[in-house]
Amino acid sequence: QSIGTGNLIRRADCKTLFVSRKHDTHKGSFGTLAVLGGGHGMTGAALLASRAALHLGAGKVFVGLAEANPALSCDLLQPELMLRPAASLLGKKDAGIGVWVVGCGLGTDQGAADWLAATLHAARETPTVVDADALILMAANPKRVPARKAAWVLTPHPREAAQLLGCDTAAIQANRVAQARRLAAKYSAWVVLKGAGTVVSSPDGRWSVNGSGNAGLATAGTGDVLAGMIGALLAQGLDMDDAVRGGVWLHGAAAQDLSARGIGPIGLTAGEVIAAARDLRNRP
Ligand code: AMP
Ligand code: MG
Repeated sequence: QSIGTGNLIRRADCKTLFVSRKHDTHKGSFGTLAVLGGGHGMTGAALLASRAALHLGAGKVFVGLAEANPALSCDLLQPELMLRPAASLLGKKDAGIGVWVVGCGLGTDQGAADWLAATLHAARETPTVVDADALILMAANPKRVPARKAAWVLTPHPREAAQLLGCDTAAIQANRVAQARRLAAKYSAWVVLKGAGTVVSSPDGRWSVNGSGNAGLATAGTGDVLAGMIGALLAQGLDMDDAVRGGVWLHGAAAQDLSARGIGPIGLTAGEVIAAARDLRNRP
């Protein structure tokens, strides 16, 4: 497929990112988001997604940790986050969770598969971002993916997309637009097929390719940051098209902005992308 400029996501396509806040608001106006992830040894992935959600403007952020005995009860560098064992978060009917982000550092063992099944069940009427290990688990256990009433977005990198479609990574990369649209149709989901030239597809096959970003993003944790960013935009009421395209564009634009300031692309860290994305959003 040739990519016309009509299919390129640019700043001008992301106006809803820059809507200013009304004076008379409170944290309840900006949504409550919950991240499920952070299996053994992977707490950082869940924290990166959660910190990204907070810095992109979500009102309140819960972090559900799948690890049986999480070593952390608080993110000491980000004490605004509310860390919980996954069980207590899923049992909380009154938490008012308006968006779920699932999979960041979740792990792929049996326990992780059970947490994912329970979370997808709890989240079937709530907008949901599915990333990373959750995608691997969905590919391995299709019968444990419940029918959904609310919209969702899958954010695979090429290898995760290959598992979901039952092909190899080369087949994904050979025709990224067609494969993103195939995946979107298969799961009735928005799809973000990541990598240089991230492809976004809606369930009905409308697609675009991101025009921002650089190779600095090729480092650990940037995918978790993107998932948290998209979740935060959903929590603040952007519709799926705007949250997905806006999040993808802003993530890339943050990396470019950092590089213009001499930070990266070599040695860029995912945490730096969070702060830069926040700054860009406040600088319309
Ligand atoms: P993940 O593979 O889940 O860690 O996600 C990596 C993130 O970085 C995705 O948002 C990718 O689109 C982005 N990324 C990785 N490599 C590049 C690259 N060479 N150019 C632009 N974006 C990239
Ligand atoms: Mg990832």
